[in-house]
This record gives sequence, structure tokens and C-alpha cells, in this order.
Amino acid sequence: MPDGAPKVLDVRNLNTVFRTRTGEVHAVNRVSFDLEKGELLGVVGESGSGKSVTMMSLIRLIPSPPAEIRSGQVLFDGMDLLEVDDDTLRDIRGARIGFVFQDPMTSLNPVFTVGFQLREPLMRHMGMNRREADRRAAELLELVGIPDAARRLRDYPHQFSGGMRQRVMIAIALACDPEVLIADEPTTALDVTIQAQILELVRELRQKLGMAIIWITHDLGVIAGIADRVMVMYGGQVVEEAPVRALFKEPRHPYTRALLETIPHVRGKRAERLEVIEGQPPILGAAPTACPFRDRCAAAVEICGRENPALREVGARHRVACHLSDTGAGSGAAPEPEGAHV
Ligand code: SF4
Repeated sequence: MPDGAPKVLDVRNLNTVFRTRTGEVHAVNRVSFDLEKGELLGVVGESGSGKSVTMMSLIRLIPSPPAEIRSGQVLFDGMDLLEVDDDTLRDIRGARIGFVFQDPMTSLNPVFTVGFQLREPLMRHMGMNRREADRRAAELLELVGIPDAARRLRDYPHQFSGGMRQRVMIAIALACDPEVLIADEPTTALDVTIQAQILELVRELRQKLGMAIIWITHDLGVIAGIADRVMVMYGGQVVEEAPVRALFKEPRHPYTRALLETIPHVRGKRAERLEVIEGQPPILGAAPTACPFRDRCAAAVEICGRENPALREVGARHRVACHLSDTGAGSGAAPEPEGAHV
């Protein structure tokens, strides 16, 4: 990944709130990050850390109400996606920014053939006629490794295996050659063999098509293998962001450090005891006025309870939100995940 490549996405101070009967839930707090052309940004964090809500907010896929994108900017090709009209946004979604969801069965329509679902964006966004769209749809299925592609266009989603359905979702997301692909835990529901195949496929496609990718996962092993840069989220905010090598070699936030220590390792014939992060993720409510990790942080000091630390630059493209980021409280090399390419 070349340094200083042009930015394809620039997210600034994004805040998303859910209105509930019991009050507001601040699910995304002052999230800022950018994405360079051809880069793969891994986004990690526990369930409820705000990963998916952040990414869905970028292209306003979040149901509103109850959600409300309260402030921020999402700059894409000179436009703010939070401000553009619905028609423009529809043209961008699915055409220039593709999205792959975790569970293809909830995203693919069971009553339409896979061919129909692949043709639809091609005819709508690329202006193709039926014959051209059919040809391109078969090429896309071949591209994602589905054998006998032309015949399989006539099949319905339930006639594909889980791994093949996920490939179909990727093919649909890639249909219009998007500049950005957002993949939300796309391999979580798959067994490890299929997961490895999908990851290999993404690596190949990225090289072939040069698109930028945001890959959301809770699996640091996956991130170590495919990401250029990693963004760690906790309690609805970014707590650390760094090039993948720096994050694994020198994690600076106590939560990142703890997360890395939970990666299971097998040394020789004996598996080590699984580490866990003690305590529970924070219950999100009002905008945080303290560090969201303070109840689980062994390094917490007095200021952590009264001030939410801002992200600060601590190295080249390395930012950390911790009052003690200068003292090295959270730093230190973490064990490298099995199969990591960092
Ligand atoms: Fe721990 Fe304080 Fe840093 Fe939060 S700000 S991670 S509580 S040391």
C-alpha cells in the first residue's frame, strides 16, 4: 500500500444517536478516520462497540428513526454523504460504495434468482441492457469462484451453500466496480476453510480492481492477515488507529493490548489458557464524559473518570485515545496471531 495515496473517504466527527423510550443512546461518538485508495482498513472491537453502526451511518443505511446522525461529515468525491439528496445517495450506494453484510440470507431476496439480483444494479447503475447484464453477471460469479456461473444465474439463494451465498453477496457488491467496499463481518458465519477462501478472494480482487476496503470484524487473526491499517473501537468511539504492523508490535491503548492478549495460541502440543477481558463493555447512554474503558482498565487514574480522552497522534498514522498514551501504560509487543502476516 503506497504511502500518501489519495483519500477516497474522509469521515469527520461522526455522531450517531438512537432515541429510545428510556432516553438517548450515543452509539457513535466523534468518530473520525480516512481511507486511502486501494487501502484495506480493518475495524475491530467487541459486539456493541459501534463498528457496524458507524459504517452504516456513512451511507445512511441506519434506520431513522430511531437513529439520528446528529453531526459529522462523510466526504466522498467532493460530496458530503450526510448532505446529498436521496437520489444521489442511491446512485452512490451499491454502485460506487458496495456493502457486504454478515448474513447473506437476510440480504439476498429469497424470491428472486441470483441472476436477477446481480442484473438489477448493472441495469440500474451501469445502463446495461438485459443481454449485457446477463453476460456481466456470469463474469462476476466466475470472478468470485462460482463454477458453472451462467447456469447458476437461474438458481435461487437457497440453492447455494453458505460460502457460495457469501460469494454471491460479494459479486453483487462488486457489480459496478465500486471505489469502496464495506464488508461487515462477512466471514463470521462461515467455517474456517470457506473463510480462508473468501479472504484469499478478497486479496486477489483488491489487487485486480484496486478498490479500498473497510473490513469489520472481531477477529484479529483475520485483520493481521489482510489489513494495511487497523481501527480499534470501544464504547462507540475510536480508541486506537495504526498501521497493522505497529498495532500488533506496539499497541498503545490498554483495550487494544487486552484484545490482542485474547487471541488464542497453540504452542507445541498444548493449548494455552484462553485470556478474557474482565468486566463488561459499557452500557451506552448519554455522551460519555469519562473514558469508556475505565471500569475495565488496570491502569486507570483519577482523570480517566472525569474526562473522555481525545485521539492523539503518537506516531506515524498512529493515534490513541488514552490519558496515559505518553506513559506507555498500554504499550508493549503483543503475541503474534497464528498465521499472521504482520
Ligand atoms: Fe485506561 Fe485511563 Fe487510558 Fe482509559 S484513559 S484506557 S481508563 S488509562
